[in-house]
Amino acid sequence: MLPAPCCTASGVNPVAEGSRCGFVALIGAPNVGKSTLLNRLIGAKISIVSPKVQTTRRRVLGILVEGEAQMIFVDTPGIFAPHKRLDRAMVKAAWRGAEDADLVILLVDPTRKRLDEDSRAIVASLKREGRRAILAINKVDAVKPPKLLGLADTLYAEGIFDEVFMISAETGDGVADLIKGIVRRLPEGPWHYPADQISDMPMREIAAEITREQLFRQLHAELPYALTVEQESWEDFDDGSLRVGQQIFVARESQRSIVLGEKGQRIKAVRQAAQREISELTGRKVHLFLHVKFRENWQDDPERYRAMGLDFED
Ligand code: GDP
Repeated sequence: MLPAPCCTASGVNPVAEGSRCGFVALIGAPNVGKSTLLNRLIGAKISIVSPKVQTTRRRVLGILVEGEAQMIFVDTPGIFAPHKRLDRAMVKAAWRGAEDADLVILLVDPTRKRLDEDSRAIVASLKREGRRAILAINKVDAVKPPKLLGLADTLYAEGIFDEVFMISAETGDGVADLIKGIVRRLPEGPWHYPADQISDMPMREIAAEITREQLFRQLHAELPYALTVEQESWEDFDDGSLRVGQQIFVARESQRSIVLGEKGQRIKAVRQAAQREISELTGRKVHLFLHVKFRENWQDDPERYRAMGLDFED
């Protein structure tokens, strides 16, 4: 379910002449550049960019206003062949985003030798469900034109794409055209959100995402796959400063020492970097406290799933 649309202060959404509004699902295999594109579109840091697979576990909304149109982007955690329970929950959340959306954009990566299995599975699934989509071929800065055209032709022949765009989320090439294409296809109607709302992800969740991103950056290959950051406390002080407490859960006791690092050096570096970023984001002095906890089988604990906004399935 998408969150209930909110209203302006007067309780009424603006209904300008010719106003358009809709939910746009950005779907694609891991690493095709969904987060990079979303960040470019929204211009604010609301999703994680990382060379690692499966870093976006949560569906994030970003809102872009262009003239009379309001686009509400639904980022998805990546749709791929689900193996573990957690993966299955993520896939389900991803598809749920796409089902609710007015418009689906499939992002593909042409830098790989051939179209990856995940993207092919998504195309097959869109076809099966009779959904139409916009195709955005990303990373055009890194590929020669003939390869791009070949891929565009092959995918267009699937008969499910209304339009094909060639873009680079990194350089911004073609992104303005993509936005125009989205606006053209948005349903007419009043805006769902006030004009100044960028992300409906609460600041606390963004703060937890920031710490998670730092962990991804600083742990590299050593990163325990099953790791999650949860907000523990959030206290405002009279002097304007903020005390933020977060818990990092690992699935095995041995992983705790990896996260802590020798003499706690690693967690210290993570804490300092995350604290700086949260401080920049909130414009306040921040005291960040991190606790690394071992929680056996958290991947099978329904409560943790709910905390991440995911469904738990047997
Ligand atoms: P996601 O998993 O689909 O959200 O992908 P990310 O946004 O995390 O991007 C995966 C990787 O692709 C990162 O290393 C990005 O820097 C890189 N990337 C994203 N967009 C582009 C692009 O337009 N050109 C190039 N060359 N790299 C890109």
